[in-house]
Amino acid sequence: MRILVVGAGIIGAALADRLAGRDEVTLVEAEGPGAGTSGTSYAWINANDPADPSYHRFRTAAMSTWRDLAAGFGDPAWYRPAGNTIWADADDAKSRLADRVTRLAALGYAAEVIGPGRLRELEPHIRVPDDALIAHHADEGYVHGGPAARALAERARESGAVVVTGHRAVRLNTEGERVTGVRLDDGRDLDADLTICAAGWRSPALLATAGVVLPLVDPSEPGSDAPCLVATTSAAPGVVNGLVHAPGLSTRPAEDGGLVLEADDLDAGVDESASPALMDAVGAELLARARVLIPGLTAEVARVRRCVRPLPLDGYPLIGSQRPGLYTAVTHSGITLGPRLAVLIDQEIHGDASPELDAYRPDRADS
Ligand SMILES: Cc1cc2nc3c(=O)[nH]c(=O)nc-3n(C[C@H](O)[C@H](O)[C@H](O)COP(=O)(O)OP(=O)(O)OC[C@H]3O[C@@H](n4cnc5c(N)ncnc54)[C@H](O)[C@@H]3O)c2cc1C
Repeated sequence: MRILVVGAGIIGAALADRLAGRDEVTLVEAEGPGAGTSGTSYAWINANDPADPSYHRFRTAAMSTWRDLAAGFGDPAWYRPAGNTIWADADDAKSRLADRVTRLAALGYAAEVIGPGRLRELEPHIRVPDDALIAHHADEGYVHGGPAARALAERARESGAVVVTGHRAVRLNTEGERVTGVRLDDGRDLDADLTICAAGWRSPALLATAGVVLPLVDPSEPGSDAPCLVATTSAAPGVVNGLVHAPGLSTRPAEDGGLVLEADDLDAGVDESASPALMDAVGAELLARARVLIPGLTAEVARVRRCVRPLPLDGYPLIGSQRPGLYTAVTHSGITLGPRLAVLIDQEIHGDASPELDAYRPDRADS
């Protein structure tokens, strides 16, 4: 089958890697692999929410697929199953955390409450109040999304995929109802038996060229949750070993030896044109919080980047065929889910049903 994958983020790159060799794959990327959301993502691989047991199972399976995928690359530096430490100090937050740990453990998920001694072994440099409740999840981890997407795209190319970078698909080509490929920004038409839209938060714009609607949060809407800011610091080697979720700050090691810093509450007011002043202010606040969490931290903010979450309106993945010749694969938590989605989509487009995907069809709101 001639398959055209639009977008080389974690989802498109994992798909191209999965399909190359068996299918005639072309991967089209407007910039470079990993240049979109995947390259700026906090990229925590997890199933740390027991609220929806079916979605929890889906994500747990995805964590396992990551382990298999990474093993195939021989312990790559971009896959770090380094565990997650999370703590709470306010009474209501402590009670929610304790409840979550109990429910996750009951589902067979690695979740435990730990004491200060164990915390010192895991994360010796972080400071936690004496009365905090601390949880640890040994099976969670993170990836460096940019390098991971590049490695997957490169392996797809080695397996025979054609990787076209620096060219945007400006429209879907159609014959009647059927999507027959894309037109690129240089006027070239690429034909395919199946076009897979994995263009992340930009997917609605591409799909709209064939009249297809995707229920994704519009990042340009005032007050949208999609745009956000993520900071990285200068080198801070060994300061944090895994993921650390403190009240008001999430952090983990960055790919170049610094720290990734993120806090959802600071994203209010971030829109399409986050001003340099806002970005500086958010960077300074993230660093101030990091210095409370990690006394003695000497690193400075190296970079603050604006990024956009591909947020489905109901929060769940949007996966499936929307027209003959067209398949869509867009989701938040795409880092956690990308490789698993690639396995299931591969199965499905080659004729074996993937019932695990049935809950996540893009047209579910209409049915
Ligand atoms: C701050 C932040 C924190 C996050 N934290 C987590 C987390 O902890 N865990 C988790 O699992 N997920 C997390 N996510 C979500 C996750 O990062 C995304 O779901 C995932 O990266 C999406 O991958 P993607 O391949 O769909 O999109 P992208 O990585 O955006 O890739 C899409 C690619 O398509 C290209 N493209 C777009 N339009 C076109 C076109 N017309 N033609 C050609 N190419 C095109 C873009 O250049 C881009 O490279 C987070 C996201 C953000 C922003």
